[in-house]
Amino acid sequence: MRPTRVALLDGGSMAIDGYKVYWNRGPGGDIRFPVYSVLVDHEDGLFIYDTGFDLEHMTKFVPQDQAIQAPDQTLPGQLAKLGLKPEDVTHVLSSHLHIDHAGGHKHFPGATVVVHEDEYAQASNPPLFEKLSYSDLNYDAVLTAKRDKVEPPAGAFEPKYRFIRGDVEIAKDVWLWETPGHAAGHYSLMVKPAGRRPMLFCGDVAMTPRNLELLCLGSFHLDPTRAIASLQRVIKLAEEHDAEIFCSHSMPDFVTWKKAPEWYE
Ligand SMILES: [Zn+2]
Repeated sequence: MRPTRVALLDGGSMAIDGYKVYWNRGPGGDIRFPVYSVLVDHEDGLFIYDTGFDLEHMTKFVPQDQAIQAPDQTLPGQLAKLGLKPEDVTHVLSSHLHIDHAGGHKHFPGATVVVHEDEYAQASNPPLFEKLSYSDLNYDAVLTAKRDKVEPPAGAFEPKYRFIRGDVEIAKDVWLWETPGHAAGHYSLMVKPAGRRPMLFCGDVAMTPRNLELLCLGSFHLDPTRAIASLQRVIKLAEEHDAEIFCSHSMPDFVTWKKAPEWYE
């Protein structure tokens, strides 16, 4: 059996105000933060958890988030560092479908997209305040048409989906824990590499460790009550499994982590 290993793929960075990272707390001022994907090389397949943002989309439609991405920070560029190609990826595991977590799904048209069924439903019919968050659904012409309430073009591309709810062990020692609130159907990922303590990627439940320490949400959330419960759940899961928590958007931590072409194994 092939030992499970994990690589972090650097997808560039964005900047938002401190009051958006720490709701009603701040301090204010731009915080530049990393966007990354988690690649899991497993006996059962090559999984990628989240796919970052698409630079062209961000520059055109969300310039206020000041996205920066060098050519080698695209997913094909990052996979090449590991000697891999987008076609090698078998499953895209979605924490949720926001622009900075699903912007690279389009690179994997042959992969199965694993997503919470409530998240797909939310992306297909977002309320006004979430429209920008779900503005990049370019990997799925059928979903885009649903959201825009138009007929899909003839022969429109729709990825293969696996819709899930509840906690799911996707493959041995690869868990998706249901952690909603930030988004309708949000998942955190826990992986146990062969020779290391489990790694718990909590997605946008906590952008940074300070969100966890203060039990302070970011200002983007669908349901703050469920989002707080998810913060508490992540802390509890980490304790129960002796897992190391990796927050989604913390630059001081990200710069210290191993990135592709290195593996956690
Ligand atoms: Zn998000």
